[in-house]
Amino acid sequence: MADSLPRVHDHDSADGLVSVEDARERVLSSISPLSPLALPLTDAYGCVAAEDMVASISLPEFASSGMDGFAVRAADVADASPEHPAELKIVGRAMIGHRPDATVGGGEAVQIATGAPIPAGADCVVPVENSRVHNETVQLFEAASEGRHVRPAGEDVKEGSVLVEGGKRLGPPELGLLANAGHGTPLVHPRPRVVVLSTGDELIAPTEHPDFGQVRDSNAYTLFGALREAGAMPVLAGIVRDDVDSLKDTVLDYLVQADAFVSSGGVSVGERDVVKAAFFQRGDVSFYKVAMQPGMPQGFGHIEGKPYFGLPGNPVSVFVSFELFVRPALLKMMGRSQVSRPEITARLTQDVTGPKGKMQYARVVVARGSDGWKATPTGARGSNLISTVSRANGLAMIPPGVELAPEGSQVRVMLFRAAED
Ligand code: AMP
Ligand code: MG
Repeated sequence: MADSLPRVHDHDSADGLVSVEDARERVLSSISPLSPLALPLTDAYGCVAAEDMVASISLPEFASSGMDGFAVRAADVADASPEHPAELKIVGRAMIGHRPDATVGGGEAVQIATGAPIPAGADCVVPVENSRVHNETVQLFEAASEGRHVRPAGEDVKEGSVLVEGGKRLGPPELGLLANAGHGTPLVHPRPRVVVLSTGDELIAPTEHPDFGQVRDSNAYTLFGALREAGAMPVLAGIVRDDVDSLKDTVLDYLVQADAFVSSGGVSVGERDVVKAAFFQRGDVSFYKVAMQPGMPQGFGHIEGKPYFGLPGNPVSVFVSFELFVRPALLKMMGRSQVSRPEITARLTQDVTGPKGKMQYARVVVARGSDGWKATPTGARGSNLISTVSRANGLAMIPPGVELAPEGSQVRVMLFRAAED
């Protein structure tokens, strides 16, 4: 009877699948930023400020000279000219890094270096080029008004003002500003330490020579790069055999030094699906299928409070799953508010076929054409074809329900690196 025949599974069907948005929301809603830490500036670089950082002093802290010359009173040089130089008595020196050794009274001048504090009593500087010294006196040939060549205190930053707002990422100028203002250990959201595990009895290290049927572990290195690029700190835990106890032991060994785990492989329906076997019974990690190609089977949950991402094993699935789920989660842990890649609209230069019920992430290389962006597929859609990612800079999103995105049609493309990289 036809009814009792086994049904052929349709790999393109969306039955029982979670949408990409729901899967992403499921992950992101359970992730919070890592607790703030006071880190030295060099470690805080690239991290997000966990609070408003307020100036406890004004910058610059003291008025200084913008020129080598003489600090004087503007009133004494108001009429100075080459024909009628002002003649002032030199009463001291102001050197960089020191308190001036004299104050400037009427008819007096202090010799001053660029960057040295303006001595009390002086209100302007006449550059050395417009002066001539005779013993204890100086002739000044140029008139100067109050404030001329003086860098005032507090011109850059006022005491009590916000140097860096909470939520802002510390880039090069922020580090310099904080250093200048004496914030040597700012409070930031730290970079997550992410433990990477590659599961599979068939796997060997990239430096080893495979026996027939063995495969060099590529996922650990894709993930290493992706983690570094996201600003996280990868910890490679190596290859774990398809053995439930080994996987559990390895995860537990790394718990103390992990803020999150990412494993690849073993989340599908095969008999060796070790990640599922290790964590499913405990209820810590959920396993589900996402309506996407590549990367349909996914595991996600928490082990002892640390997020655990169980990615599928195929190399392209790993890359795409990282982009869609892991990267946004890590950015959220780092306190970043924008966790998505930039997207553009581009015109396909070739037909792209898609699985009917799923979002397809087609690897494309995006380039600027004469009439806007164009996207060219870099190869077939197989989720094991890692070279197709290497040639690409974007993932074109062919939505569920679209089985053919024809040449010339517009598609949304998520850019995972700059077009020229
Ligand atoms: P799995 O999900 O464990 O069944 O793996 C799916 C496919 O991905 C298999 O062909 C594996 O050999 C391959 N694979 C799994 N892990 C890795 C890895 N770390 N590097 C390269 N290929 C892998
Ligand atoms: Mg496997």
